Amino acid sequence: MLMKDQSMLRHDWREEELLAVYDKPLLELIYEAATVHRMWHRADEIQLSTLLSVKTGGCPEDCSYCGQAARYHTGIEVQSLLPTETVIAHAREAKEQGASRFCMAAAWREVRDNRDFDRIIDMVKGVNALGMEVCCTLGMLTGEQAKRLQEAGLYAYNHNLDTSENYYDEIISTRTFDNRLQTIANVRNAGITVCSGGIIGLGESKADRLSMLQTLANMEIHPESVPINALAPVQGTPLQDNPKVDIWDMVRMIATARLVMPATMVRLSAERTEMTEAEQAWCFMAGANSIFTGKREKLLVTPNPGIPEDLDMLAKLGLKPMSRS
Ligand code: SF4
Repeated sequence: MLMKDQSMLRHDWREEELLAVYDKPLLELIYEAATVHRMWHRADEIQLSTLLSVKTGGCPEDCSYCGQAARYHTGIEVQSLLPTETVIAHAREAKEQGASRFCMAAAWREVRDNRDFDRIIDMVKGVNALGMEVCCTLGMLTGEQAKRLQEAGLYAYNHNLDTSENYYDEIISTRTFDNRLQTIANVRNAGITVCSGGIIGLGESKADRLSMLQTLANMEIHPESVPINALAPVQGTPLQDNPKVDIWDMVRMIATARLVMPATMVRLSAERTEMTEAEQAWCFMAGANSIFTGKREKLLVTPNPGIPEDLDMLAKLGLKPMSRS
C-alpha cells in the first residue's frame, strides 16, 4: 500500500539537514532514497514525458545556459509558434508510443494576452482531449493567465528555479528569483500542479544546489514534479565550456530531492545522452521516476534519447512506462 498522506511531508528543512542528507555515504544515501521511493511510488514505473518546443529561439531573456536566448549566437533554427494541428499530432503519436504526459515549451519571456496565447489555449484543450497530462512552459504568467490555462485543462506548469537564490544573479539578469516564485504562486493559486526544479553544472556550489532544493521542499505544497537537469553546454552561450557534471553529483541531487520531497515526481532531465544506461539506472535507483523522451530526439535544442531507445532501456531494467496518474 503506497503512502498518500501529505501531512507526513515536511516543509521546514534546514540547511544543515539537507547537507547531512546529501553528504551521507553514497550507497547509504541511495539505499535510503530507494526505500522512501518504494513507500510513496511504484518503483517499477517510470513516467515518460514528451517535451515539444512549440516556439523555438529568439527569446529576449539572458539565461546563460540557454541556446534559445536571442543574444547568444548559437546557430539554432528560430521557429515561430507551430500550428495547433501539428502539436496535437505530435501529442497523439507520443501517446501511442507510451507517453502519458505532454509538455509544450515556448521560448517567451512571459505570456502575452494575444492571438498566440489563444492558440496555446487551443493546444491545451486538444492535448487534454487525448487523455494526456498536459504541461506548458511559457515563461512568466499572471494569475489571470494561469486561470485561463487551468480552465482549458492544463494539468501542470513548468517554471524552474534554475539555481539558488544566491547564485541566481550569476545566471540570469533579465528577471528575478522573486519573479519566478510569483509565477509559481500564480500557477498554484489557479489550481494547476507545479513542475519546478533546476540545473546543476552552472558553476554553483554544493550549498547553492541544496539551497535550491530547500526552497522547493519548504514550499507550502511541494511541487508535484521536480526536474533535475545537468547542464547541456550549448556552443555560443556563456556556459559553453563548463565541465561535465559528475554522475555521482547527479545521483546525490536526485536522492536528496527524493528524501526531502517523497511524494514528488523527480524527473531526470537534460543531458541523458551523456549518461550510460547504467548511470541512468543509478538515478532511477536513487528515486528518479520520470524522464523526458521524444520523437524528435531533442530536448528543446539539446540532444535527447528517443522513445524507442528509452523503452528499450526500461525493458532491460525491468521498468515500465507509467500510465496517467
Ligand atoms: S531558458 Fe527560457 S526564458 Fe531563459 S533564455 Fe531560454 S527560452 Fe528564454
